[in-house]
Amino acid sequence: MNVKDCLFCKFVRGEIAPKKVHEDTHVLAFHDINPQAPTHVLVIPKEHVASLDELEAKHADLGGKLLVGVAETARVLGLKSYRCIVNTGKEAGQTVFHVHVHVLSGRHFTWPPG
Ligand code: AMP
Ligand code: ZN
Repeated sequence: MNVKDCLFCKFVRGEIAPKKVHEDTHVLAFHDINPQAPTHVLVIPKEHVASLDELEAKHADLGGKLLVGVAETARVLGLKSYRCIVNTGKEAGQTVFHVHVHVLSGRHFTWPPG
């Protein structure tokens, strides 16, 4: 999957408009099209990295900004408690290969996750 064809890169470039929740220079947050909780938002870096597994030392800033983006998204939405998930690789359930943090809230979550 290259940057041209990547769905989330199309969101970043504005070619497709997601339901935006939060945006800054480095990250974009939008509602998941198939929500698994009353609130289900995806937070992505604007720079294309396929998965968490591809992050290297040079991405430390991107990784930090992504986590700060998660916290700011939660504040924008007024979330008091939420679960963050980063599916990494097909076996773990990753279907879109542009790294993203799922932010879920509004219901009880079990542990361990399924
Ligand atoms: P994952 O399976 O962890 O890679 O998560 C990908 C997520 O992207 C899934 O929860 C999908 O529902 C979501 N998704 C796929 N297409 C869209 C879209 N057009 N707009 C918003 N979310 C999407
Ligand atoms: Zn991408």
